[in-house]
Amino acid sequence: MPDITLISAALTSLKAAIDIAKFLRETDQSLENAELKLKLADLVVALADAKIRLVEVQDALTTKDQRIAELEAAFEIKDGMVRRYDAYYSVDGSGRPIGVPFCLRCWEVEHKRRQLVNDANRQRTRVCTACGHQYNWQLAREIRADESNT
Ligand SMILES: [Zn+2]
Repeated sequence: MPDITLISAALTSLKAAIDIAKFLRETDQSLENAELKLKLADLVVALADAKIRLVEVQDALTTKDQRIAELEAAFEIKDGMVRRYDAYYSVDGSGRPIGVPFCLRCWEVEHKRRQLVNDANRQRTRVCTACGHQYNWQLAREIRADESNT
């Protein structure tokens, strides 16, 4: 559910609760005991509904905070990543790719740095443990410091 819809639903529930409370405050003493109990039950339901909606809003905000933190982390390392053939790599002091290969798909689609590993079932294949994408071993191999300028 979109966040604005969650907030609107919470506000609607709170408005219903406030309206019931106002009605109870402004009603004269002639209210029957059974009617009073019914109105109080409506008030409790409206407040419980508002609480549930606010928990949903809180969850949505927490998810967004996590995603913002991930994107900030990706943004910080963006300039420190370079593509070579089918993988991304960290860069050395001269801006050349070096070290272990990272999944091209995960970096370009999700902005997450995920290291590729050798596929135990297929020779000459590297695989991303997160998305499962497979890469040719030659096009996504580790680059040692003494070969990073090739
Ligand atoms: Zn991946």
